[in-house]
Amino acid sequence: MQTLLNYINGNLTEPASGTYIDNVEPATGQVYGRIPDSDASDVERAVEAARNAFPTWSAMRTEDRSELMMKLSTLIEQRMEPFAQAESRDNGKPVWLARTVDIPRAVSNFRFYATAALHQSTAAHSMGSTAINYTLRQPIGIVGCISPWNLPLYLFSWKIAPALASGNCVIAKPSEITPATAFMLSELAIEAGFPPGVLNIIHGYGHKVGKAIVEHPEIKAVSFTGGTRTGEEIARTAAPMFKKLSLELGGKNPNIIFADCDFEKAVKTSVLSSFSNQGEICLCGSRMFIERPIYERFKEAFVEEVRKLKTGDPNEEHNRMGALVSETHMEKVLSYIELAKTEGGTVLCGGERIRPEGRCKDGFFVTPTVIEGLGQDCRTNQEEIFGPVVTLQPFDNEEEVVAYANSTRYGLAATVWTQHLTRAHRVAAALHSGIVWVNCWLLRDLRTPFGGMKDSGVGREGGFEALEFFTEEKNVCIKL
Ligand code: NDP
Repeated sequence: MQTLLNYINGNLTEPASGTYIDNVEPATGQVYGRIPDSDASDVERAVEAARNAFPTWSAMRTEDRSELMMKLSTLIEQRMEPFAQAESRDNGKPVWLARTVDIPRAVSNFRFYATAALHQSTAAHSMGSTAINYTLRQPIGIVGCISPWNLPLYLFSWKIAPALASGNCVIAKPSEITPATAFMLSELAIEAGFPPGVLNIIHGYGHKVGKAIVEHPEIKAVSFTGGTRTGEEIARTAAPMFKKLSLELGGKNPNIIFADCDFEKAVKTSVLSSFSNQGEICLCGSRMFIERPIYERFKEAFVEEVRKLKTGDPNEEHNRMGALVSETHMEKVLSYIELAKTEGGTVLCGGERIRPEGRCKDGFFVTPTVIEGLGQDCRTNQEEIFGPVVTLQPFDNEEEVVAYANSTRYGLAATVWTQHLTRAHRVAAALHSGIVWVNCWLLRDLRTPFGGMKDSGVGREGGFEALEFFTEEKNVCIKL
């Protein structure tokens, strides 16, 4: 039985409470480890360590911080396989996916920000012979990073890397459902030689550790990725304390397919954008709009491809989908499928829990599910399910489909399939989403702004945006 520890002041330590939470393997439904049930006193110890570390860390040359982060990224890369295995076991995703996406992207996140910080510059505003203004960008101090369970190390590092590169000290909390790779990261931070207190990783529940991070008066900025309801709760606490907030929240992403699309590519990529990582990616499309002339043909081809997706043991390379992250989440997804039926939907394929033979018989597996026949306003088409469930709907013209796409409270990502260049630009501009992919999905350039509109969040991560978030701007005006 694996027991994880907190990482505070450079040491791996037990939680103050001395108690632990069971960690369940989603593919088997069995407890396989214990994680610290930490509380506000652990956060307090981490803040004390960060307070002591900040003067030296923030004054360190950017090149030296960068070198440490590069070392950390190399250490992760050297342990690609154990990291991929751990991520898969903790989350239920196929090992091949963790090996090709999650862990390599975590490595890139550290590299990207280790080097981006070297290229950051600030503005100067001349007032002729009267004065000159220049802008300083200084680290904020102690910052909080809270991340979800769907892309555990990938999203954890996406926050920690820019925070550290900008000279802040970090108190970070991974989701208590998927803590394993964050623990492995703390072991490597020690090996890389990070000074004590610069990075602190505290495990435990959101309502204890997460809440204590958000409420702590010395933690001046919080970068959070997770559900919209949790984001609201965090904002309620942090806003009156005038903390800087970056909130990456839920989505209900539209995937718009015009009749003039490259049919084969649109079908194949839509299968990926619907069911990658069991549909547990905030960027997955969950509402597919298909122009009426190709609706039946597209539906047939899409469902045929979806039926080919094998769901089962994440260790087996031929399985395209693994287990959902937890029993509670599986029940939530299944309840939405039942809801869709009561709302008048027809399940075209999938829609059920499966119990693979052997070690995975008690795992949390749901087959990829395609539903048609629902209206725009029903709950199935308005609420985030965050699982392997998509709905299909026909549309007749551009104006109509843009209205459908924009009809939810969310505005994270959208995909548009068309060969008509002008229409692609027009529709991309009209969609209320922070990210629009045209004739592709999940093509990521780390320099681009990442985030959502409406209830999908506030602020942007990625590129220099994140470095700016983790710094305070100061204008210095010098009279000549
Ligand atoms: P949650 O909002 O439940 O949790 C996210 C993190 O916040 C977890 O570490 C959680 O801890 C913690 N937390 C929970 N309550 C509080 C609180 N009161 N104060 C501070 N922290 C708290 O999200 P999920 O983990 O369920 O992740 C799924 C959600 O994340 C989906 O809605 C998805 O759309 C969204 N997401 C958004 C992305 C984006 O970039 N926009 C990317 C990926 C996911 P604990 O685990 O203990 O509850």
